[in-house]
Amino acid sequence: MQIILATSNKGKVKEIRALFEKDEVVPFSEILGPMEIEENGGTFAENALIKARTIFEELGRDDVIVVSDDSGITVPALGGEPGIFSARYAGEGAGDRDNLEKLVAKLKEKGLAEAPAYYTAAIAIVAPGAEYVVHGWMHGKVITTPRGDGGFGYDPMFVPEGFDKTLGELKPEVKKELSHRSKALKLAQPIIEMLKKRAVR
Ligand code: IMP
Repeated sequence: MQIILATSNKGKVKEIRALFEKDEVVPFSEILGPMEIEENGGTFAENALIKARTIFEELGRDDVIVVSDDSGITVPALGGEPGIFSARYAGEGAGDRDNLEKLVAKLKEKGLAEAPAYYTAAIAIVAPGAEYVVHGWMHGKVITTPRGDGGFGYDPMFVPEGFDKTLGELKPEVKKELSHRSKALKLAQPIIEMLKKRAVR
């Protein structure tokens, strides 16, 4: 049973592979080539399901488990921005740095040097006749002076609760322990194991 990831985001693929060391984890683009999936849901969960269902249907195989991740960062002081729009906060086709700079600018516009924030990850799992969604969160704050080049996305401006360094500065092992994605994937793991067992019966 192959686990197919409904994402080609290199940062996510690396983090998900690190958590499923024993399994064969393949990004969908290696099988189907590049493909744009319109994420028109209103929540992280809806968008995760849209991605996983689309890839499952495109593959048309019953020997795969498709896993997707829809994630982002929420800043309550900015009315919940960027939230589900995290990947395209600075516009369609914007890169990680553009999005981070827009969030820094928005905080500064409000006169904020820092603000509470949290990451959300919704992981959807789609297999023959089965659909699941699990969530994980990581709380902390965002700052307007990004530091470090580790992680990806908004990590250089995110300081997790209980730390004084950003995720850009902290070691990957620290993020692996704390992250929204790790927490959601820990909940996804037993579901995937159950689906793998069901497949060999
Ligand atoms: P998605 O690929 O549509 O789920 O968009 C996720 C976006 O949220 C990414 O492009 C990042 O901007 C942001 N994001 C999600 N998880 C993380 C993380 O662990 N670190 C930093 N940024 C993240």
